[in-house]
Amino acid sequence: MPSALNPNLAQFKRRNQALPAEKYVEGILSGNRVLLGQSITLVESHIAEHQAVAQKIIEACLPHSGQAQRIGITGAPGVGKSTFIEASGLHLIDSLQRKVAVLAIDPSSQMNGGSILGDKTRMEQLSRAENAFIRPSPAGETLGGVARKTRESIMLCEAAGYDTILIETVGVGQSEIAVHSMVDCFLLLLLPGAGDELQGIKRGIVEMADLVFINKAEAERHTLAQQSKKAYQNALHLLSKKESNWTPKVHIGSAFKQTGLAEIWQAVQAYFEHTNANDFLQHQRKQQATYWLSEHIENALKNWFYQDKVVQKKLDDLQKKVLEQEISPFAAADLLLKSKI
Ligand code: GDP
Repeated sequence: MPSALNPNLAQFKRRNQALPAEKYVEGILSGNRVLLGQSITLVESHIAEHQAVAQKIIEACLPHSGQAQRIGITGAPGVGKSTFIEASGLHLIDSLQRKVAVLAIDPSSQMNGGSILGDKTRMEQLSRAENAFIRPSPAGETLGGVARKTRESIMLCEAAGYDTILIETVGVGQSEIAVHSMVDCFLLLLLPGAGDELQGIKRGIVEMADLVFINKAEAERHTLAQQSKKAYQNALHLLSKKESNWTPKVHIGSAFKQTGLAEIWQAVQAYFEHTNANDFLQHQRKQQATYWLSEHIENALKNWFYQDKVVQKKLDDLQKKVLEQEISPFAAADLLLKSKI
């Protein structure tokens, strides 16, 4: 928002202070992308004052969230996730009149400073679309931290009126499990031909998929893609029935040439109709909320405990005693816990 529209903005910026929470909430509820982006920055901030404002924003936005379709999109680096998300985002906006937010979970950016997903300016066309909001993965966080912040960002995007939330992640490890705990539907991108081991995709991730899109299925790769489709369809059939009672579907196409996109998104809609009708969607959301409640309590307890000065000092002493075998690790842990409870 230009500061001319808000005379307070320049003043707040100068003092590196957050605006009052109500200003962000007002902005979010009226669909202001700048204030939505700034609110997510507060969610991601480690400054206590920012955190406090962020929590107020989240609480105020909560009643306005929950209406969107939350879709996780994964696949090995290079499979075409960005290209697929950009083409899909444009398809959803132009043909289905959707409002699309793209968030990402990229644990690589926290481990080595580099990001596997790369910067999202690659989605140039989508980022210019009025009904799109794109946000890269928060950096410098543990996976748990990234996941929590992404979950909170989902709520803010929903309150801002985004009805489709795409959450991108790399199909190589733990991040899928984190994404699975916050999405309704999981879409896996694969390449024609190679088996999943060869594509760097863990078996468990294939099992999580509700839908598979075999990308880059153009020209000479089309036949191969059709063979892969059959193979994956058979493999997915052999897996035990999902709790959702949904049989995963496999589609082929090209994000680059924009083929097969209408079909895969029709399949996504069929998934939502199916899981809405049998109440799985609501059931899964409740399970996820319970999961996040205990996850947050666990994290808060850990922080509360380890940040205590007395605990820190005692831990140092006990650690030495454990190393000198004066006390067992279990007795030391019990002693430390009892000193705090
Ligand atoms: P990501 O790492 O999974 O996000 O993959 P990108 O979207 O960055 O794509 C990796 C490379 O594959 C880029 O050079 C894309 O242009 C290319 N690519 C993506 N989708 C397709 C497709 O459908 N067909 C072909 N031939 N190339 C594609």
